[in-house]
Amino acid sequence: MPEILIQDIDVALTMDDQRSQLSAVDLRIRDGIIAEIGSGLTTEGERISGKGCVVTPGLVNTHHHLYQNLTRAVPGAQDALLFGWLKRLYPIWSAFTPDDIHVSAQLGLAELAFSGCTLTSDHLYLYPNGSRLEDTIEAAGDIGLRFQPTRGAMSIGESAGGLPPDSLVEEERAILDDMIRVVDRFHDPAEGSMCRVALAPCSPFSVSRELMRDSALLARDKGVMLHTHLAENDEDIAYSLAQFGCRPGQYAEDLGWTGPDVWHAHCVKLDAEEIDLFARTRTGVAHCPCSNCRLGSGIAPLRAMRDARVPVGLGVDGSASNDMASLISEARQAMLLQRVAQGADAMSAYEALEIATRGGAEVLGWPDVGQLVVGKRADIAIWDVTGVASSGSWDPAALLLAGPAQVKHLFVEGRQIIRDSNLVTMDLPGLLERHQKATTRLMQLA
Ligand SMILES: [Zn+2]
Repeated sequence: MPEILIQDIDVALTMDDQRSQLSAVDLRIRDGIIAEIGSGLTTEGERISGKGCVVTPGLVNTHHHLYQNLTRAVPGAQDALLFGWLKRLYPIWSAFTPDDIHVSAQLGLAELAFSGCTLTSDHLYLYPNGSRLEDTIEAAGDIGLRFQPTRGAMSIGESAGGLPPDSLVEEERAILDDMIRVVDRFHDPAEGSMCRVALAPCSPFSVSRELMRDSALLARDKGVMLHTHLAENDEDIAYSLAQFGCRPGQYAEDLGWTGPDVWHAHCVKLDAEEIDLFARTRTGVAHCPCSNCRLGSGIAPLRAMRDARVPVGLGVDGSASNDMASLISEARQAMLLQRVAQGADAMSAYEALEIATRGGAEVLGWPDVGQLVVGKRADIAIWDVTGVASSGSWDPAALLLAGPAQVKHLFVEGRQIIRDSNLVTMDLPGLLERHQKATTRLMQLA
């Protein structure tokens, strides 16, 4: 790959150990990594102007359900709480085909890329009509984002007292077999990897205790990470107390679901003891403020988690509960929501951006991204601060207070994904047409 030099950057927010902010610098990309940062650098390779731009590490999304991009703003699910929302959507999701999963993931990944995301996780926990995890892995390859797909699962259907219809649940033996298959086939632990697989039973209320325990054992055996939904709202806590006789934190701990190789989505209702448990065990959290607002779940104790040094990243969550999966907007929402809860000094624009970059990378176990540091992978977002959204700003580096909602350029592993605000890895009008066609088909079936 030819060398690329990003020249004359106004401000680079490095997110390095000193949290350095560099002015008037150049950044050299070579062989997929950040090769040099300094002033007056020259190159025989390609040049990208950083003039009028703030450069950040690519944003990291720690929780998503990419398949849901086909079911945004569904009437009947627009104003429902979590469990009612799920019951409205399950029958629609059960009609999905492998092509639906694929095109939905492509669209969702493109949307993330525009909002500055270079690494995303995805939680796929239903596999209707022959769908497979590779339907999303191929989509990530198409768009060019670094990807952490998770082999999700649901096994307790309606007839067994669970929430999902029986048509969307799988046998637990088959789930474990497929977890082994996808890890063996797609998980790449090497530095510079573009795909690392994690294991992710959907939630404590949709799989058995045994599957939670066995998937944790399997993840340790394979050296992969673990992910699920936890302590999302009051109903979730009530379910845990009624069914398991304990709070979600205890349930997670008992089944091996704490540790630096585990991250839980939401955690809106963690209490002080659970925050302490997560901090001690370095268990990660995917904070999803827009989804939490959308479903009325509450305000996660992000300030308390950060102060206790719980690893926290951001997640846009699925597009059926956001319904706009803009990661930069998610970071702004995280900042605003903590201020609603605790006052204007509860979270700075810079700290929220740090959570969205370096924080997310740490939660997902990718220390080689999330920072603009020589030797790290070249996952880079370039934000034009000369436009309408930034004009008049006295501090253009405070992107979350006044800044663009979309990147000007985006690089993943040194490869340009967005150039001058256009997606270059895929034909976007064609993708939109296929995505709309799939949406129309599902609407006609419903
Ligand atoms: Zn979710």
